Amino acid sequence: MNSKEELPTELKDAVSWRFVVNGERCVKCGACAMDCPVQIIVEEPQQFFIGSGCIGCGDCYEICPVGAIERIKVDRD
Ligand code: SF4
Ligand code: SF4
Repeated sequence: MNSKEELPTELKDAVSWRFVVNGERCVKCGACAMDCPVQIIVEEPQQFFIGSGCIGCGDCYEICPVGAIERIKVDRD
């Protein structure tokens, strides 16, 4: 599910999310990278990394089998 769909309507345009990979939890399965619609999750030597250009769809957050994608609320004025 798109994370924004969980929000009240009045907040959808005011709040979005930033997503980061928790390297200590990540088991390097690659599921997030394969699922990202804009293909900006890349494997680096030590861990997977979310690059620039994220559209905030939340697919990686939903699909990660070990909860290694962290979602951080970003207020937009
Ligand atoms: S939230 Fe969506 S666009 Fe952003 S990194 Fe995750 S899958 Fe890709
Ligand atoms: S889906 Fe989760 S465990 Fe798999 S590579 Fe992505 S962050 Fe790591």
